[in-house]
Amino acid sequence: IDEEAAARAAAVNADSGAPTIFDKIISKEIPSSIVYEDESVLAFRDISPQAPVHVLVIPKLRDGLTELGKAEKRHGEILGQLLYAARIVAEREGIIDGFRVVINSGASACQSVYHLHLHVLGGRQMKWPPG
Ligand code: 5GP
Repeated sequence: IDEEAAARAAAVNADSGAPTIFDKIISKEIPSSIVYEDESVLAFRDISPQAPVHVLVIPKLRDGLTELGKAEKRHGEILGQLLYAARIVAEREGIIDGFRVVINSGASACQSVYHLHLHVLGGRQMKWPPG
């Protein structure tokens, strides 16, 4: 992401809720271990992994998507891009044969960062139901 794109992301994201730590990850002010990146999506390793592979997939422009529960029809394209990016991450990480994608939306689902993100988890036998 170049400086201009980072500035644009900062402007759009500031317009749609309180800043989060992910803004600094998008601008690379805070380093992260990036697994996949394109113009719309960033995927990086979770700092507190819950499985051998634990990657977060986020939109660079939050654009009101603080949580999945706030999604609108207009977000359809980015929502699809995020899910497809999760699949690319799974392939790159060698877990395409079995992986889990989780979205925590809202406090009762234990969401802690209010910038939509998909958790891509794998590399071990997952259990069901989740807690
Ligand atoms: P949530 O609980 O909102 O579904 O997920 C937020 C995730 O962000 C958590 O799994 C947490 O470990 C991760 N996280 C929080 N701060 C940072 C950070 O600074 N860097 C990285 N890589 N992950 C973070």
